[in-house]
Amino acid sequence: MSDAFLTLAQLDEGLTCFVIPRRREDGSHNGLQLQRLKDKCGNRANASSEVMLIDAQGQRLGEPGRGITTIIEMVHQTRLDAATAPVALMRQALVEALHHCQQRHAFGQPLARQPLMQQVLADLALEVEAGIALCLRIARQFDDAVADDEARPLARLAPAIAKYWHNRRSPGLLAEAMECLGGNGYIEEHLMARLYREAPVNAIWEGSGNVLCLDVLRTLARYPQAGEALMAELSAAGGQHHEYDTALAAFEHSRLLQEPEEAQARQLVQSLAVLWQAALLIQHAPQPVADAFCATRLSGGIPGASGVSGLPRGMSSAQILSRVLP
Ligand SMILES: Cc1cc2nc3c(=O)[nH]c(=O)nc-3n(C[C@H](O)[C@H](O)[C@H](O)COP(=O)(O)OP(=O)(O)OC[C@H]3O[C@@H](n4cnc5c(N)ncnc54)[C@H](O)[C@@H]3O)c2cc1C
Repeated sequence: MSDAFLTLAQLDEGLTCFVIPRRREDGSHNGLQLQRLKDKCGNRANASSEVMLIDAQGQRLGEPGRGITTIIEMVHQTRLDAATAPVALMRQALVEALHHCQQRHAFGQPLARQPLMQQVLADLALEVEAGIALCLRIARQFDDAVADDEARPLARLAPAIAKYWHNRRSPGLLAEAMECLGGNGYIEEHLMARLYREAPVNAIWEGSGNVLCLDVLRTLARYPQAGEALMAELSAAGGQHHEYDTALAAFEHSRLLQEPEEAQARQLVQSLAVLWQAALLIQHAPQPVADAFCATRLSGGIPGASGVSGLPRGMSSAQILSRVLP
């Protein structure tokens, strides 16, 4: 569906990147032959196909033999997109769930006023707010990295962390949001089914979960400044929240960080992501939001969103929901 495609091909020097335009300069179709369209689980508005290149014209991009390095520049950008898209899906699902729960009356009052449903909605809202905060923070790092060499290592590390974690969270959150609509949520005419089918693709393309976590390990080893910059940012949010300080101290002294191992790479990336989200909410969100996030995500593992355990007794969901309700 694009006007040009970045493609790798073998030269004597090794894998090399080429730009293949859809049309030749004279306007005729380039030698791109679609073998078949893929029948996908979701993401159907975006065609995917098996393709053959026969007498296709292209232009070399980057140095011969440096194709992977060249194409990774693009992948790095699209990873930011695949880290942001799941948050957009989650936000849309939250809006749908909130709207439905405000209109639908069950047991004498709107669902949105039922205490147990308020817990679920507040939990979804927390996850969305944390995801948006992390996306915007990383987008700023990308902007900074254009002119500032020192910002580049963290800009390299950050999308992999966010892409991994947001895509672990989105399918569970979408299922929970779908359930807020009851039976209507499961009906194909409604938007929820489409959102739900869309969710897994962002985890798979542009580097699937394990590959991303291994990439984080490699980046931390190759560019120690990236890890140092992130840890400095996490430390800067310290001293304001007991649960956060305890979780950060435990992480700093853990073997996950001190002696990272391939088999534990998911735990490492998950910890970095959730601590970073918590740090951003402590610094930029109203206190009840940061309190609820830390209480539900940092104490005793990571519940919430995909297996809601709810806010601690006495903690109100009202202030969290007031930020997302019109
Ligand atoms: C809709 C769609 C569109 C796509 N569009 C494009 C496109 O335009 N261009 C393009 O180049 N690609 C595209 N892809 C391909 C996509 O990037 C790959 O499918 C994806 O990166 C996973 O690679 P793979 O399919 O080879 O899986 P594999 O590499 O076989 O991975 C399978 C599983 O093994 C895990 N794994 C792999 N290595 C390790 C390891 N060392 N340790 C532990 N676990 C590991 C992975 O995380 C994954 O869970 C598209 C895919 C989809 C679904």
